[in-house]
Amino acid sequence: MDQDMATTLDIARGNPNAATLPGTQGLRPAPVAESVAEPEKPTLIGLTREDMAAALSGIGVPQKQLRMRVAQLWHWLYVRGVSDFAAMTNIAKDLRGLLAEHFLIARPQIISEQVSVDGTRKWLFQFPPRGAGRPVEVETVYIPEEGRGTLCVSSQVGCTLTCTFCHTGTQKLVRNLTSEEILSQILMARDRLGDFPDAETPQGAAVPSEGRLVSNIVMMGMGEPLYNFENVKTALLIASDGDGLSLSKRRITLSTSGVVPEIARTGDEIGCMLAISLHAVRDDLRDILVPINKKWNIKALLDACRAYPGLSNAKRITFEYVMLKGVNDSDADARELVRLLRGIPAKINLIPFNPWPGSEYECSDWERIEEFADIVNRAGYASPIRTPRGRDIFAACGQLKSASERMRKKDRDAAAQVAAG
Ligand code: SF4
Repeated sequence: MDQDMATTLDIARGNPNAATLPGTQGLRPAPVAESVAEPEKPTLIGLTREDMAAALSGIGVPQKQLRMRVAQLWHWLYVRGVSDFAAMTNIAKDLRGLLAEHFLIARPQIISEQVSVDGTRKWLFQFPPRGAGRPVEVETVYIPEEGRGTLCVSSQVGCTLTCTFCHTGTQKLVRNLTSEEILSQILMARDRLGDFPDAETPQGAAVPSEGRLVSNIVMMGMGEPLYNFENVKTALLIASDGDGLSLSKRRITLSTSGVVPEIARTGDEIGCMLAISLHAVRDDLRDILVPINKKWNIKALLDACRAYPGLSNAKRITFEYVMLKGVNDSDADARELVRLLRGIPAKINLIPFNPWPGSEYECSDWERIEEFADIVNRAGYASPIRTPRGRDIFAACGQLKSASERMRKKDRDAAAQVAAG
C-alpha cells in the first residue's frame, strides 16, 4: 500500500485543502458540535418511540398528539436525516422552537476523515463526556464494495478485553457508547456520503454503483457490543425500523468475542446476524488470542452458537478467523476448525492479519492462507479470504484505536526516549 496516497481531511482543525482532497468534493460542511457545547440538553436521537413520546409529554405536548408527533420526528430524523429542528417544515414553528429549547438532535463533531487508496473511509468522531471526564472519540469505517457499502460501527470507547492481535485491545475502556452515539455513527456516515434524500454524494467518492450507499452494518468496530447490550439493542432496533433507516436485520451483523450468556438474547431481542471472533481452535491458544475464552471456552461458545435463535442455512453464523503466521494457520488447525463447526450453519471469514505498530504477530503467507482456505472450502464452507481494506489509514480489522490515543502514546514514547537520554 502506498501510504502517501491516502488522504486525511482534518476537519476540526479546518484544513484549507479540504475542498481539493480526492473524494471529498461536495461534502456538506462539518456540523457544529452543538452537543459538545450544551451537554445538559437531552437528545432525541437513539430514543425508542415510547421514550420519545415520554420526552415530548414532559415538555407539554398534548397526549392525543404524541403518536403523530413521534411519527413526524421519526421521519425527519431517520428518513430525511435532518439535524436541525428548523428544517422540520410540517411541524408548527412554536413547537419547533419548544423542541429546540429542550432537546438536541445535532451530530457529533468530526475530528478527521481519512480516505484510503482503495476507497475505504475512516472517521474519527468526538462525543461529549456524558458525565465526568473529557469528550470521547471513536472510529467508524466505511467499506465500499461492488453492490454494497458496509459500515463498521463502534460500541465502546476502548475495550475491556485484550485480544492480543487487536489494536483496540491496547486501549483501556473509557465508557460504553449510548444508543444515540451508536446511531449517530450511521447518521454521520450517511451525511458524509450523501446517502439521505436531497443530499449529494461527494464527487469521486468510492460507493456501490447501485442501491443504498450504506447497505450493511457490522458491529465490529471498537469494543465488545455484548458488554453494552441495552444500548446496542436500542440502536440496532431503531436502525432496522421500517419507518426510519429501514436496514434489514439480515444486513446487520453483530460480532462478539464470545460473551456466551448474551448470545441467545441477541437472537431473541435483536434478531440480527451473528459473527464470532473465533481465531483459534484450541483453548490453550484461544486463551491467549481472545482471553475471554478463559471465562467461556470454545465448547461453551459453540454450544451457544448451535442454539442461536433463528439459525438456519439461510441465516448462518460467520466465524472470523485471523491468519497469524506460525500461530493458528496450519493444516491441522484448518481440519480442526472444520470438525468443530460441524452441524452449525456457518460461514468462515479468513482475515489476513493487519499489522499495527507494536503488534507481536505477522500475517500468514498468502500461499498458506490459500492452502488453509482450500481445506475449509473442500469441507463445504464458503470461506472467502477477506481482502485487507483501508490498511494505509489503519482502518482494517483489528486496527482501530482513536487517533488521539495514538498521539498520546507517541508523546509518551517520545518522553520516555528523552528521559532515557
Ligand atoms: S477484538 Fe474486539 S473484543 Fe477483542 S480487544 Fe479488539 S475490540 Fe475488544
